[in-house]
Amino acid sequence: MAKIAILGDIHANLEALNTVLDDCRAQGVEEFLCTGDVVGYNANPHECLDIIRAIGCPVMMGNHDYYVSREMNLSDFNPHAAFVVEWTRAQLSEDELAWLGALPFQKTVKGISMVHSTNDNPMTFGYVFDNLQAAANFVNQKTPVCFHGHTHCPMIYEKSMQGVARIDPQDFKLVAGRKYFINVGSIGQPRDGDPRATYVIYDSVQKTVVFRRLEYDIAAAQAKIRAAGLPERLAARLEVGQ
Ligand code: ZN
Repeated sequence: MAKIAILGDIHANLEALNTVLDDCRAQGVEEFLCTGDVVGYNANPHECLDIIRAIGCPVMMGNHDYYVSREMNLSDFNPHAAFVVEWTRAQLSEDELAWLGALPFQKTVKGISMVHSTNDNPMTFGYVFDNLQAAANFVNQKTPVCFHGHTHCPMIYEKSMQGVARIDPQDFKLVAGRKYFINVGSIGQPRDGDPRATYVIYDSVQKTVVFRRLEYDIAAAQAKIRAAGLPERLAARLEVGQ
């Protein structure tokens, strides 16, 4: 295992996922990991699930995967969010819902750990936006490197003898003796002001991390959202990356 693509927050965006997978082939990616949220927000949950299941890689439980795969009370959700959960559920077969519902919250594969949100109580899907939240994760992170998603904003958190540092996403090499909690960003709905699909390539031999950003056919993804009758805001946000 050397070149590993870490895919996250795909959110049923088929155009973005296909663009990322083309890039993975061009980059010589050999293995895949997925930090979860395969479904939710966009209009192709079934197609994206098919692709991810065919890849056969480890996939973590995202909060949308969790909500969609359970009969739960959505009265705490805002009406748009509840509508999208119900719509997504209606697109999927019993088998697909059962597959989503059985995803693990966290996992370690060959020394690399993954979680959708944070290793600090992963079943409650807390967000990591700052050093304090990252510090709580590091208490429970047993491996030198862990990949996550959930905020849809790519970011690097590094724990060294000096404490926790937040580093803007950039290509870098892991330093031995330090720990890294790396947010791989979102394929299907980036929120850091850059609308391009995002994923990470980790070279487990060279210990290097590369953030990939790719333009994709946003207009096609938007047209499908509108045709499905999903909230207009979900289409509009794709082109601004918010
Ligand atoms: Zn998400």
